[in-house]
Amino acid sequence: MTSRTITRRVRGIPASDGAGVKLTRVIGQPMLDSLDPFLLLDEFGSDSADDYLAGFPDHPHRGFETVTYMLDGRMRHRDNHGNSGLLESGSVQWMTAGRGIVHSEMPEQDHGLMRGFQLWVNLAAKDKMMPPRYQDIAPGKIPTAEPAQGVKVRVVAGEMFGVRGPVDGIAIAPVYLDIALEPGAKLSVPLPEDHSAFAYVFEGDAVQVGAETLGLRELGVLSRGDAVELAVAADAKAARVLLVAGRPLNESVARYGPFVMNTPEQIVQAMQDYQAGRF
Ligand code: FE
Repeated sequence: MTSRTITRRVRGIPASDGAGVKLTRVIGQPMLDSLDPFLLLDEFGSDSADDYLAGFPDHPHRGFETVTYMLDGRMRHRDNHGNSGLLESGSVQWMTAGRGIVHSEMPEQDHGLMRGFQLWVNLAAKDKMMPPRYQDIAPGKIPTAEPAQGVKVRVVAGEMFGVRGPVDGIAIAPVYLDIALEPGAKLSVPLPEDHSAFAYVFEGDAVQVGAETLGLRELGVLSRGDAVELAVAADAKAARVLLVAGRPLNESVARYGPFVMNTPEQIVQAMQDYQAGRF
């Protein structure tokens, strides 16, 4: 067995997106431009409505997938193909934009805590123009494994500790886990050896990753290997970690805002198709 170690540490930077939603950009910023196949990771979290009320009005996507994991709050999504749904606390939406959608993601609350993550997952060249696809997963459909004392793992995607995450049919064979560790808990998480992977601590103060410590709001890029060892010291706070892995695509990336293709020509085409209403 090869244990994964931290090869790089990154802290998010304050950013604003949509019509002015305040968020922290962890992947997709100068310190970590991308981590193939992951293009972006945003954490949002505020109990001040001014930070999120403006939401994300109509905007396009082509060539990749957006994964929204709501921890707290309610968000309504609607697209130009007639799809709509409510993202509520504990739910996940795995949206494959494929050849193109125009959608909005708007808060369905005017006070209280809104907290969660959005991850962008790239699509392989052969899949970029596939028809759009949604997987809207209600909180109760996400199984929780308890593989060790003081450990709870919500398995959003991947097969882990005898349970299977509800997200299916995704080409990069993702593992997407929300891991809660009590003080003194430890856990070995098996991961496909050649997947890119990262760990991000979003509650608590410190988590041991292999022989190193990852602080709150710190992302650790992990080396290749078939497992990662996580632990929380007995005298530390309970912690939560987002652990995500996916098969790298190793393809060229041409990226312009909400369009992620393989060549600059395809980006120009995407802009023309969007402007002509072909999404
Ligand atoms: Fe969007």
